[in-house]
This record gives sequence, structure tokens and C-alpha cells, in this order.
Amino acid sequence: MRIVVLAGGIGGARFLRGLKAAAPDAEVTVIGNTGDDIHLFGLKVCPDLDTVMYTLGGGINEDQGWGRSDESFTVKEELAAYGVGPEWFGLGDRDFATHIVRTQMLAAGYPLSAVTEALCARWQPGVRLIPMSDDRVETHVAVEVEGERKAVHFQEYWVRLRASVEAEAVVPVGAEQAKPAPGVLEALAEADVILFPPSNPVVSIGTILAVPGIREGIAEAGVPVVGLSPIVGGAPVRGMADKVLAAVGVESTAAAVAEHYGSGLLDGWLVDTADADSVERVQSAGIRCRAVPLMMTDVQTAAEMARAALALAEEVRA
Ligand code: GDP
Ligand code: CA
Repeated sequence: MRIVVLAGGIGGARFLRGLKAAAPDAEVTVIGNTGDDIHLFGLKVCPDLDTVMYTLGGGINEDQGWGRSDESFTVKEELAAYGVGPEWFGLGDRDFATHIVRTQMLAAGYPLSAVTEALCARWQPGVRLIPMSDDRVETHVAVEVEGERKAVHFQEYWVRLRASVEAEAVVPVGAEQAKPAPGVLEALAEADVILFPPSNPVVSIGTILAVPGIREGIAEAGVPVVGLSPIVGGAPVRGMADKVLAAVGVESTAAAVAEHYGSGLLDGWLVDTADADSVERVQSAGIRCRAVPLMMTDVQTAAEMARAALALAEEVRA
């Protein structure tokens, strides 16, 4: 079975670990979000691609959900001693090596998709990880800080401001001109199932869908498309997804996120058992819906979620 997953960082990565356990023989292709990418200290950092790569490759900081395990911060301290920031973005020493290799390869002319493949040769994530595009796409957030309206990089909004101010708009800058990376449309065309893990609907999956051709590729694949809600009991399980959902006029409920994707895109949607009362609303929007436990407390619970998603996909197909 060929499965394609559109993934952001933590939610996507933890789900993928469960999917691999649930379907060990499946050929899994991951289309990763690159809208969060940022240049720091002269280096190209791809937080979501790295979170997927480290999580599936066994190098993730489990408690944090991002960054390397057994990490130290000597380089960061030395940079701070030079007064070189930003101090709000935590890059560890081991993580730095990844960004150095990536930046070096990009400077030598390799596209990001080839660089990602090279990095994965070390980590062996057990999936084919492809960035959504080799072209630069950068998510910006329009905010008002101290009476001044401005657009800030997504990382500045998320990490430095901790989404503490209202997001007035979220813009994937460059997406309209971007092309899907090599392999993305082919993977969609050959897929048996397409899954949306519980990733951020706006700045992770929304950004991937903003690359022209990807949304169409999903529709044209003609296979079941099933998503899992990142919103449980009216709030994001982790992080501040409610802030960016508000920016696109979507309430933070499992049903509203399903309606936001819409029946033109989604065939099936899983909500948490806490949201069982929203199943009917989702179904009346033309999306087949089930309520199952959606908390990824460990690999087993994530695997159960993956099994439920694949079962719902089979129901859709039948
Ligand atoms: P990011 O790029 O690191 O923010 O990660 P993603 O976009 O892949 O996923 C973020 C989303 O995952 C957040 O909106 C969380 O609510 C959601 N999430 C994290 N852990 C869980 C979980 O255990 N269950 C569910 N249903 N959603 C989760
Ligand atoms: Ca992200």
C-alpha cells in the first residue's frame, strides 16, 4: 500500500511514528511543510522537516518534541557572548551540524529535496521525506505590536512572541510562485490513501496546500483522503493553533477544522472521543466521521490512530 502524508512538525512526526508501527509494509511518502523555514546565523533551518527526520530516525528530544536528544548549547552561548542573536531561537550543537550540512549543500547548488534525501541517508526515517517545494516559501504573520502593524516571520510570531498577540492574517509568502518539489505530484498520483495527520491546519497543512498543484493533485488522485483532528475538546492539544485558526476565521473545534478543509478535499475525518457530539455535524458536511481516542501519549496510541484512519479510508473506498 502506498500512503502519502502531508506533515508539519510535532503532530505530523508523532503520527508518522504510529503509522509506521501500524502499517510496517506500507510505502510512506511524507510531503513536509517548509513554510516555517528560516535563515539564522547564515544557516538554513527547516524545523518541520527536521522534526520528522529526527523523530522517525530516533534522534529527537522526546520531552520537547523538537530538536536533538542529548543536546548541548555551547555554540549558542558563544554566539550570545558576541552579542549575535536571535537568542529566542534554541539551536543546539548537534542540531547546528544538520543546518551546516544543509546550507553547504544548498550553496553548492543542490535543491532542498536532494539535500533532505542526503540528510535522511543518515537518519533512515523509514519514509520518503520530500519538502513540499524546492522554492522558497515563508509564512508571515500580520500583527499589531505597540500600535504598529507589521508582518513578522512565522517563527518570530510563534517562538519569540509565543502567539501572544492576535494574528490578523497568515500569508505563505512565495507559495503562489512555488512549484511542488520533484516527486510530490508523482507520489500523490500513485497513492492508495492520502492522510492529514493532526498537524496545524493553517501553518502546516494549509501552507502545503497553498503550493499550486498540490491541492489539485490530491483531488485528482481519486483515492480516500482522511484527516485527524489536532483540536480536541475545543483547543489545540499542544501549541497555539487556535491563534492562526482565528486569523483565517475558523473556530477552534474539531468540526470547524473539518469544514474548513471541506468535503471537496476530505473524505473522512477522525475526532477525539471527547468530541463525539460533533460527528453528526461533520457528516452533514459530507465528510464521513468517527470518534476515537486521538491523544498520542506513546507510539501505541499513535498506531491505534493510524489504524483507525486507514480503516476509515477503507470504509470510504467501499
Ligand atoms: P508543529 O509544526 O511542530 O507545530 O507540528 P504540526 O503542525 O505537525 O502539529 C501541531 C498540531 O499537532 C497542534 O495543533 C496540536 O494540537 C497537534 N497535536 C499535538 N499532539 C497531539 C496529539 O497527541 N493528538 C492530537 N489529536 N493532536 C496533537
Ligand atoms: Ca511547524
